[in-house]
Amino acid sequence: MNLSIPAKLANYIGGSLQAPIDGNYLDNINPATGEVYCQIPDSNTKDVLEAIGAAKAAFPLWSTTTLEDRFKILNKIAELIDANMDALAIAETNDNGKPLWLSSRVDIPRASANFRFFATGIMHFSTEAHNMEDKAINYTLRQPIGVVGCISPWNLPLYLFTWKIAPALAAGNCVIAKPSEVTPATAYLLSHICREAGLPAGVLNIVHGTGQNCGSVIVSHKDIKAISFTGSTRAGKEIAAVAAPMFKKMSLELGGKNPNIIFADCDWDKMMRTTLQSSFSNQGQICLCGSRILIEESIYEKFKNEFIARAKKLTVGDPLDDNSKQGAVVSKLHYEKILACIELAKQEGGKILLGGKAIQLTGRCENGYFIEPTIIEGLGPDCRTNIEEIFGPVVTLQSFVNEEEALMLANYSDYGLSATIWTQDITKANRIAATVQSGIIWINCWLIRDLRTPFGGFKNSGVGREGGWDALRFFTEPKNVCIEL
Ligand code: NAD
Repeated sequence: MNLSIPAKLANYIGGSLQAPIDGNYLDNINPATGEVYCQIPDSNTKDVLEAIGAAKAAFPLWSTTTLEDRFKILNKIAELIDANMDALAIAETNDNGKPLWLSSRVDIPRASANFRFFATGIMHFSTEAHNMEDKAINYTLRQPIGVVGCISPWNLPLYLFTWKIAPALAAGNCVIAKPSEVTPATAYLLSHICREAGLPAGVLNIVHGTGQNCGSVIVSHKDIKAISFTGSTRAGKEIAAVAAPMFKKMSLELGGKNPNIIFADCDWDKMMRTTLQSSFSNQGQICLCGSRILIEESIYEKFKNEFIARAKKLTVGDPLDDNSKQGAVVSKLHYEKILACIELAKQEGGKILLGGKAIQLTGRCENGYFIEPTIIEGLGPDCRTNIEEIFGPVVTLQSFVNEEEALMLANYSDYGLSATIWTQDITKANRIAATVQSGIIWINCWLIRDLRTPFGGFKNSGVGREGGWDALRFFTEPKNVCIEL
């Protein structure tokens, strides 16, 4: 299979690759160079309606396809992703700006892992029975919902796109999926892979376009019975406002402003190494990054000095260069937003300890969107810099005197996605883990992901959980059947 990016990407509807019905396109820009390198369909209601028609037609057969046959096709998709690793990784990097080594080692392997995990998972999915002794027995059927919508963001493009699509398909649903219009390339390549793998026409439909013209049609259409969305809290609110009165099932994975809580009794070297990653990996554009670093007062100065020294060494450069630890941020718009957030931090009285500026590279990347890893101190918990998600290579430092203050600062957020705790006192770590208002807690580590665990946030970080049985339960409708004995 020859996976290359054409001048114009196409929608994948009813098993075929199609131009948008009205012929409108959006420019797709490589953020490392600032150049338009292809165009993507600016799909609208007409394209989405066609996709829904195809999905409805495919549903009766797909929902009754045996689990073993579903397994075989989804597993084949996983194999083809692995076999086309290089083409997918370069497409991801050109679209997103992340280093190629990161796309190859993390993003694309995780996309095939998602398909493999849910392909095998559905073979083991079982349902409950409730026995009322000599009176009756209840058993639960978990049936596919029908046509479902999956909408994903730009930061981990194929990784998060497949994290939704794989369980939806495994559970027997037909899917209308929309990748981010900022990073559509690997979703387009996935269309080819699905065709090659023998996924029947209409089971998965990938429609490209904006949230306004395309995503909103998916959310509001009456025949789409469930919405799985990952993205900003702002868009999540808009989606919930439309989908909730229609009583659609919703899984919303939204923003974060995660605390990284560091106690004096931590394993220093491991903490330093990991904190560098949890602060700046993927240019800080991971919803799980620890953007608020909370440090016990007695080690604050030591931490600050060593952290600055280590972050200074992170090479920001061409994402195609193996030596670049950091690549470009995803778009001009996002680059300007991050720089504006840094300006705001200064106005709020923050002291820039490192970075704070755009980087002008030379050569191929001279017009790309690069920002220095940035460390800020001197801001309290209630300033905008510590409240609002920046989603870039920017962290703040705050000190605490004791566990109580650490918890107060950690929970001083409307978000509640993840938290990291660094201490060798496991009793203290467990106590804090139980009290921090976040859906995902890492003790003495970060971003270790077991795909069976519940994934999602508290508060404004979302509603519902993805992963493991949670995802398969989300994408099925339970039905209780009672038999009197
Ligand atoms: P975004 O909300 O702007 O867009 C996400 C997707 O939703 C895109 O495909 C977009 O086109 C679409 N969209 C936007 N408005 C819509 C609407 N009204 N109706 C339907 N679709 C709509 O988010 P983004 O900028 O692409 O991604 C960054 C955000 O995603 C950050 O806030 C980050 O924290 C969050 N995120 C969360 C998780 C998680 O698991 N909780 C994971 C990754 C990213």
